[in-house]
Amino acid sequence: MNILLLGSGGREHALAWKLAQSRAIAQDGGKLFACPGNPGIAAHAQCFDMDVTDHDLVLAFCEQEHIGLVVIGPEAPLVDGLADSLRAEGFAVFGPSKAAAQLEGSKGFTKDLCARANIPTAGYVRTTSLEQAKAALAGFTPPYVLKADGLAAGKGVVIADTLADAEAALADMFGGAFGEAGAEVVIEEFMKGEEASFFALTDGATILPFGTAQDHKRVGEGDTGPNTGGMGAYSPAPIITPEIRAEVFSRILTPTVQQLAADGTPYCGVLYAGLMLTDEGPKLVEYNCRFGDPECQVLMMRLEEDLAEYLLACATQALGSMERPRFAHDTALTVVMAAKGYPATPEKGGLIDLKDAEAEGAIVFHAGTVLDEEDGSLRANGGRVLNVTARAPTIAEAREKAYAAVDRIDFASGFCRRDIGWRELEREKA
Ligand code: ATP
Repeated sequence: MNILLLGSGGREHALAWKLAQSRAIAQDGGKLFACPGNPGIAAHAQCFDMDVTDHDLVLAFCEQEHIGLVVIGPEAPLVDGLADSLRAEGFAVFGPSKAAAQLEGSKGFTKDLCARANIPTAGYVRTTSLEQAKAALAGFTPPYVLKADGLAAGKGVVIADTLADAEAALADMFGGAFGEAGAEVVIEEFMKGEEASFFALTDGATILPFGTAQDHKRVGEGDTGPNTGGMGAYSPAPIITPEIRAEVFSRILTPTVQQLAADGTPYCGVLYAGLMLTDEGPKLVEYNCRFGDPECQVLMMRLEEDLAEYLLACATQALGSMERPRFAHDTALTVVMAAKGYPATPEKGGLIDLKDAEAEGAIVFHAGTVLDEEDGSLRANGGRVLNVTARAPTIAEAREKAYAAVDRIDFASGFCRRDIGWRELEREKA
């Protein structure tokens, strides 16, 4: 079977690495294509470029190359309805329809769905004007949680400590700071607790758990400084105990999938539930309709199954015939190496020499890299550049292995946090 993978980040490198080991590719003569891919992905797939907003172009490629499965990595093409266009022509697609991708594409949509299906989450109000939003603040206590409704690349959430700050942030949001995404603002109750992520695959009817993880969103050590796309992650997240897992499954994931199916918009793909583990139990912070980046990297390091088989089963509504996927008991940990200046103004073009970073079994997933057109050298080409990932029986060993690999890499204009996994390590020591 030929597979087309869309995307270019560390998440897609991890997916390509795992898909390349699938029977369909490794044994049965199938081909893996990646669009646009990156220099790391090129080791596992045939990379090429095409405008994925042009659905006819994607369809023509799939027909020409007899693509048996399309795996859509990032959220934008999903929210743009690419999965619908491909399915309408009979292609098997891993990723939700435009309607179901509203789960990530509109925070108001998800909050309303939670309300209808009685899913534990923060109380909220949807607002569509500055006046309405300011008036609604009276119903909340600080800190105020304000969210632009649409996709804002992780930057659309403001947590304001005072009423004055909240009003100023609302003025920015309705003033166009997030473009269309801020035409509606959701105001939420603040939830207190530790955050963790839970992943599940679903074909719209069957739901299979697909691992847990925790990430580090802030750029600075000790979880300080501005928010980023994620500076590191580890899996599993032992803070998600078997009891919490069962509760998330029955009170959050199952009603979500059932409600979407009942609404006539069944969800097919990965459900990434961002959770707040509060004193009252796990509550939903948000859904993402794709694998997390860098959480995907640690999940793929632990997955002991044929990834293509699971993704195809999702895409063809055959998940009910699959066993619950097995993950290694080991911990996987990934350290993000970013370009200096990230997240505000990452330095582009920095020279990278990976040396023998993978010698001890770590894997260096490429996120934002490019090959220099003139001399073929590897260069930084984005904020987050490399994801150095290792797996070992304990988090302490996985971390040691990952940082040993980081230290072998020459990347003078890069940096990383040195404390990935600190919360879990402290818990392990206690
Ligand atoms: P991302 O894409 O970065 O995951 P997002 O823009 O989709 O983020 P959310 O995940 O909803 O937005 O919120 C971002 C962060 O804000 C959360 O990870 C959490 O730390 C914090 N947050 C969001 N909602 C709440 C809440 N109700 N109470 C407390 N903290 C919250």
